[in-house]
Amino acid sequence: MNVIVVGSGAGGGTVARELSRAGVNVTIIDKGPLIKPKNAGECYESFTSGVEIMNTSCMGGTTMVTLGNAVRTCQHIFKKMGVDLEDEFKEVEMELNVNPLPDSHLGSGTRMIMDASASLGFNALKMPKFIDPSLCKPCGECALGCKRDAKWTSMKYLQEAVASGAKVVDETAITEIITEQGKVTGVKSKNREFKADMVVLSAGAISTPRLLSKTGIKAGDNLFVDTFVTVGGMFKGVKFNKEVLMYALIKQDDIILSPHYSEILVDKLKDKKARKKDILGMMIKIKDDASGKVTPDSVVKHSTARDVELLSCGSAIAGSILTEAGVDPRTLVSTPPRGAHPGGTAAMGKVVDTNLETDIPGLYVADASVFPEAPGAPPVLTIIALAKRLAKHIIHEYN
Ligand SMILES: Cc1cc2nc3c(=O)[nH]c(=O)nc-3n(C[C@H](O)[C@H](O)[C@H](O)COP(=O)(O)OP(=O)(O)OC[C@H]3O[C@@H](n4cnc5c(N)ncnc54)[C@H](O)[C@@H]3O)c2cc1C
Repeated sequence: MNVIVVGSGAGGGTVARELSRAGVNVTIIDKGPLIKPKNAGECYESFTSGVEIMNTSCMGGTTMVTLGNAVRTCQHIFKKMGVDLEDEFKEVEMELNVNPLPDSHLGSGTRMIMDASASLGFNALKMPKFIDPSLCKPCGECALGCKRDAKWTSMKYLQEAVASGAKVVDETAITEIITEQGKVTGVKSKNREFKADMVVLSAGAISTPRLLSKTGIKAGDNLFVDTFVTVGGMFKGVKFNKEVLMYALIKQDDIILSPHYSEILVDKLKDKKARKKDILGMMIKIKDDASGKVTPDSVVKHSTARDVELLSCGSAIAGSILTEAGVDPRTLVSTPPRGAHPGGTAAMGKVVDTNLETDIPGLYVADASVFPEAPGAPPVLTIIALAKRLAKHIIHEYN
């Protein structure tokens, strides 16, 4: 059996690894180049209609720029739909060695935020991470790619896939899915055709629905992004910009808060002569409404009234915590709304069934597109769990 996997990020890297280790012939095709992990910051693609949406296009996809946050999201939502991911979550957590980072990696700015949270009655937990503390030397630059290759990326799974015989084709954008008599038979790039018995689309929540739409499948509605802002202000010489980002986590209903630095804040505080090392900040991330849309030539996600209410509520809490931690409240500023978790555009129950298959036999989806609603928290663990479950299904059905 020949399977083509389009996209090598969280979903694609996982399916490719699981199938090739089971002896399936797998070809992974990605539009991005093969890069060194430290260069991932050069591969950002962003879409700016309303909330700015961020992802990266390179081998390893957006996993190359994660902050290593590893939480189970949407488990109960999928369970209600008859999809039990418990076994897969356990597998992922073991393989990625998911654990909070030790105190040796806790910076003083983060510690002040955690202490201030506690004194205001907010419980700040340590964030579980897929970062190897023996390799990580805190630098605050996870989102630009890791110089020390200390965090898990789907390149680790891809390397295992290749060791099991998988083929990799990089710098090749898939433009079309080929079907014959209603069944999938391969994919096309601008100047090449690839034949397959089965195709798994893992091109991410912007590209996957576009490819599906070209086959006549209605996809692209229901876009969410887990909108976030970073709020921060001045705390002279705190050097928080060099700390592990999002070391800790405060959970509220449909909102998470976490210590976070953004250079945008430095720019906003130019008139106060702020330097990078003078900022203390927190991210406010919400479970936003799936009110956005991907079309062949546009991506639109505006904040709804509920989104704005959640962001305001989270920002007020962050402002209080930061002030308690010692930030000058007259200097508090915010980034514009951004979104780093686009998903929902080929949702389970709407576009794919509970086995992640579309209406076209042999055409599957394994990426953030299949989430029915926003996770409101880091989605990678859940995408991997879903992709592992799909691989088991394919192996079981077709062997
Ligand atoms: C700065 C940042 C930090 C983040 N931190 C975390 C975190 O700490 N924890 C967490 O859980 N999540 C985090 N996320 C989110 C997470 O990285 C993504 O949700 C996840 O990688 C999405 O997986 P995916 O498989 O849907 O898509 P991706 O990982 O984006 O992979 C899609 C792949 O498809 C390729 N592709 C696209 N179109 C085509 C085409 N037409 N033909 C061929 N290939 C194509 C792309 O090049 C890419 O390699 C972060 C995101 C950002 C931006």
